[in-house]
Amino acid sequence: MVCFCFLVDQKRRMRRSKPAAGTCSRCGGGASVADMKTATRFCYIPFYWKSWKAIVCTFCGAILKSYNR
Ligand SMILES: [Zn+2]
Repeated sequence: MVCFCFLVDQKRRMRRSKPAAGTCSRCGGGASVADMKTATRFCYIPFYWKSWKAIVCTFCGAILKSYNR
């Protein structure tokens, strides 16, 4: 897999979020539910997108929980 590391990368992007119950285990900040989108790129050309939901910290950006589809 090492040889692919410099060819394939992923861009993660938060599309929108709304407040959710819970706090961050790292910094104690507020959590929010976010629609995430990950684009996988090969030689900087995007070829695969994945949308997913996650609970993220609004303060430090940590992903507290993610839902695959
Ligand atoms: Zn946090």
